[in-house]
Amino acid sequence: MPGDAAAVSRRLLGRIREAMAQPGLPEDRLQVIVRIIAEEMQAAVCSCYVMRAGEVLELFATQGLRPTAVHMTRLRVGEGLVGFIAAHPRPLALSDAWSHPNFAYRPETGEEPYRSFLGVPIVRIARVAGVLVVQTTESRAFAPEEVEALETVAMVLAELLTTGNLIDRREQIPVDGTALVPLRINGLKLSAGLGVGAAYLHRKVPFITHLVSEDPEQEAKRFEEALGRMHIALDEMLAAEEIGKSEYRDILEAYRMFAADRGWIERIRDHIRGGLSAEAAVQRAQEENRVRMQQVTDPYLRERLYDLEDLTDRLMLHLMGQDSAERKILPPHAILVARTLGPADLLDYDMSRIHGVVLEEGSPSMHVAIIARALNIPMVARVPAILGKIGAGDPVIVDGDNGSVFIRPSEDLTASFISTVRMRREKQKAFAVLRDLPAVSRDGVRIELLMNAGLLADMPILDQVNADGIGLYRTELPFMAHAETPDVEVQTALYRAVIDQSGGRPVCFRTLDVGGDKMLPYWQSTGEENPAMGWRSIRITLDHPAIMRHQLRALIRACEGRPLSVMFPMVAEVAEFDAAKRILDLEMDRAARRGEPLPERLSVGCMLEVPSLVFQLPQMLKRVDFLSVGSNDLAQFLFARDRGNQRIAERYDLLSPPFLSLLDRIIAACDAAGVPCSLCGEMAASPLDSMALVGLGFRRLSVTGPAVGPVKAMIRSMNVGDTERVVKKLLQSPAHSLRSSLANYALDHAVQIA
Ligand code: PEP
Ligand code: MG
Repeated sequence: MPGDAAAVSRRLLGRIREAMAQPGLPEDRLQVIVRIIAEEMQAAVCSCYVMRAGEVLELFATQGLRPTAVHMTRLRVGEGLVGFIAAHPRPLALSDAWSHPNFAYRPETGEEPYRSFLGVPIVRIARVAGVLVVQTTESRAFAPEEVEALETVAMVLAELLTTGNLIDRREQIPVDGTALVPLRINGLKLSAGLGVGAAYLHRKVPFITHLVSEDPEQEAKRFEEALGRMHIALDEMLAAEEIGKSEYRDILEAYRMFAADRGWIERIRDHIRGGLSAEAAVQRAQEENRVRMQQVTDPYLRERLYDLEDLTDRLMLHLMGQDSAERKILPPHAILVARTLGPADLLDYDMSRIHGVVLEEGSPSMHVAIIARALNIPMVARVPAILGKIGAGDPVIVDGDNGSVFIRPSEDLTASFISTVRMRREKQKAFAVLRDLPAVSRDGVRIELLMNAGLLADMPILDQVNADGIGLYRTELPFMAHAETPDVEVQTALYRAVIDQSGGRPVCFRTLDVGGDKMLPYWQSTGEENPAMGWRSIRITLDHPAIMRHQLRALIRACEGRPLSVMFPMVAEVAEFDAAKRILDLEMDRAARRGEPLPERLSVGCMLEVPSLVFQLPQMLKRVDFLSVGSNDLAQFLFARDRGNQRIAERYDLLSPPFLSLLDRIIAACDAAGVPCSLCGEMAASPLDSMALVGLGFRRLSVTGPAVGPVKAMIRSMNVGDTERVVKKLLQSPAHSLRSSLANYALDHAVQIA
């Protein structure tokens, strides 16, 4: 084979690019491609074997072997030279194939005359999808350049096989040798429910379609520029690191490893010289890293694989231009699998198609979990190394009730889950029977049952579950889904639609609550050491009053004379509330001066989620029309327990003497001042927790849509007077948690908590 490696693979790829551009079936194209490879490599034979169900490699196309052997010749993984390559998976070059101990003669192929053999695995997303082979009649020592050229072609074929649907992804085997056996892995339950579907691997980077380059010099230039941009961006991140931001430490280490690893960059340059587009060259280097890393057993090094992926994704985004990450299209019945997800990441998808989410990391009060619960999407987190065990398209069951994930489950298991899903629907129907019945306890206490919302898509649920209104409308979700801050007009239209769709029920709008784990895609991270306690929520909007003014202006306009209820989040002291209220007054004056219709009634409240405010309750209660306890943040600050930190997510229980005592104090102060107080954090959505809240004296609860039915069922089965006595007594207990005592009480008194 003449010429240097780059020239060889460039010419080969050039011809393959032309072949791929021709109309026709993927299988016909594959046949043309093997012919081109045989010609260019001056080999008598070129064959492509594709991985089929049951770990069998099937001959799909050949130039040189008998055409009748196509789809007839099959080798198990580990069997013959082809199976040997799939099992290991690395190239194998033999000048005398017949003398190799793994050689398996297949008479139907007519391969007697061929002595030398070169085979390479076809790998895609760390899975063996097939094997590509050339054979020669003469005894030939294949040069490293030839091996390299065949590997480059194999990468292009991997894309063709997958996008041309020639292979079912379920039929590929992981390169780390773990067979495609069914797996059950336990994790942390974040959102209840059962989801049955096919794995969709969340990636920041869209799939590449442009694989083969027309102009290697131009591709090299694009790559160098993207690399430069990535270095600058990483240097900026490094600067933030120096001020102590630890969450980037791993990425930084990986970056240093890469920066030292000139080989990685050189390999990409080589692949570009060999005729791949810059994106395909980066992807090929990524596949090589994946194969290398997955063969490493050291858990620390394996973990690094994900950091390398992250960096490659970054490089790829720089290469494609940030905006090429368009809204992702999901197959129906998708189970989203990711290392971790920000709420904005989830909103990028068509959520009606997401039937479950599986994360390697995560904790119950992270925002993406709140969204999942609101939308009734089962979610299991902290599933170790799931991305290394699952392939795109693998059948998956997410059991959000028990925190289990089943990968490639048997048909029996799938059938039994599907029947449970059906039974659940029946149960939901039973809750639906309660729809028109009031949330009144056995001893006649009426509880106001409100719903949390944050998307227009939530609004129809309000009527379906017949909640008394929206107790918390999280306005930040649309901010996170937009490419830039929505202007007054866009916001007005949105809030008007919310009010219109509320059918006259009250809606409590919470002003913008971003920062912490809710970063806006268009705002640079400020590199804070502790974002949950940093510049977030009302601290941002008071520092940027224009944002607050625009939002309040939009809310006033959206009312068109109807009542308006607004509350401010993360208020730590009365002075912050006063400052926010002044901005609201300014906007009310502005609307009045301009002759715009004013809300018929204005209720202004604030969230109680920072413990300092408890010590200013008397002053605060003189100023507000209502209070709403944000138990997610309040618990985070009370217990000094980061709500996003998975290691301590279950360390403290909200059903515990300290937390319930704090709530007891709050509700008593509100009752004495005659100020209505609700609780809108996640705990209200659990029937057992809400039983305790009612026992403490809460008469207003705001819960996710799907929780309205179960909480109402609990209320209708409880006796408030009785529960009050029990809960107040338990506050004195020295126990870590009151959960089991309360559950036993519920059980003994037939309170419906499940
Ligand atoms: C809370 O903190 O309890 C709350 C309701 O607000 P969020 O979860 O949006 O921070
Ligand atoms: Mg909060």
